[in-house]
Amino acid sequence: MSEERQPGFDTLAIHAGARPDPATGARVTPIYQTTSYVFDDTEHAAALFNLETFGNIYSRIMNPTAAVLEERLAALEGGTAALATASGHGAQNLVFHTLMEPGAEFIAARQLYGGSINQFAYSFAKCGWTVKWADTEDPESFRAQVTDKTRAIFIESIANPGGVVSDIEAISKVAKEAGVPLIVDNTLATPYLVRPAEHGADIIVHSLTKFLGGHGNSVGGALIDCGTFDWMASGRYPTLSEPSESYHGITMAETFGNFAFAIAARVLALRDLGPAIAPMNAFLFITGIETLPLRMQRHCENALAVAQWLEAHDKVAWVNYAGLPSSRFHDLAQKYCPKGAGAVFTFGLEGGYEAGVKLVESVELFSHLANIGDTRSLIIHPASTTHRQLSDEQRAAAGAREDVVRLSVGLEDKDDIIADLDQALASL
Ligand SMILES: *Cc1c(COP(=O)(O)O)cnc(C)c1O
Repeated sequence: MSEERQPGFDTLAIHAGARPDPATGARVTPIYQTTSYVFDDTEHAAALFNLETFGNIYSRIMNPTAAVLEERLAALEGGTAALATASGHGAQNLVFHTLMEPGAEFIAARQLYGGSINQFAYSFAKCGWTVKWADTEDPESFRAQVTDKTRAIFIESIANPGGVVSDIEAISKVAKEAGVPLIVDNTLATPYLVRPAEHGADIIVHSLTKFLGGHGNSVGGALIDCGTFDWMASGRYPTLSEPSESYHGITMAETFGNFAFAIAARVLALRDLGPAIAPMNAFLFITGIETLPLRMQRHCENALAVAQWLEAHDKVAWVNYAGLPSSRFHDLAQKYCPKGAGAVFTFGLEGGYEAGVKLVESVELFSHLANIGDTRSLIIHPASTTHRQLSDEQRAAAGAREDVVRLSVGLEDKDDIIADLDQALASL
């Protein structure tokens, strides 16, 4: 490849961040299953601890296998740097720990993964961080919640579980006017379908557990620094813009410029809170990402076929898949994810709660479980499982009413997927 040529997405998915192992020539990234790394001498050790030299000290903070994954994710999302974590929730924890102080607020879309609603409403409250809810379908509802304590806006690109597509550019405009970063959870879309950095996101978070890993075999997460937010100019983020006492007075935003957020999240939040990714899991995610483009193409093709079939079924009241022309999110999907609207969507059963329970108990090829983004087709009835802890009002706001069934359409033959739903619906 000549020097000016920029590699395409599919090439980056296979090569970004990786090179043959310098010690052994191994072509595939090795699993560096080690806790710690030998220092050259005491001077080297001191430089590492002072952040004057970048290098490995201890695998809670960085690991060479995880570093390949991080560089690949940053490349795929078009960010300046990334940080891999033990889970998606771990990444969210590090993001907010870096941005928030006790008494600070952030605004989140109501249309979120159920676990994020719990994390924001209950666990974060114990840190003195207050979430204010807004409606991802109405960008102005975010503006209405802005106060001088607001420190961030959080949305999902394609929202779980409802087949909702957020207008990232419109919400980014509100964030910019409020002077706070926009955080986008891009788990359901993956950077293959949606690239939030191109639409005004400042920080991206992922549960790698889902489509990026893609095989339902490991839990992990990541944050990506888009390098777009000016922390020094803002002055509202002391972790980034004020001298760090635990690093001899280094000011993160001054020293690390447009990747300061990722560094601060690593050397302060990850160092102290500890949700480090295991090297083995980093390896499985690197491997999964190599086939991300092919998998997402098939996921989207199968999901559209299943959604069309369901829409024509007489026991199905409605189908909410942004890839269908009937969806009110179809125009936003055409804009933000023209290659496909993902593989997770919901539909409603004429028979309500009872029918939902019966359906998940009648499927054979589909697995009834609380995950998405597997090669296997997955089904869940949110009201009786993932969204059980929420109030009726929260459930309705999250798109998880009693009649709602969520599918994560897998990579099996689409005729087999449809045949399984056909026999299960016939049993209602
Ligand atoms: C699963 C999920 C999370 C949480 O990720 P974990 O890896 O389970 O901690 C966050 N956001 C979305 C959209 C998810 O689907």
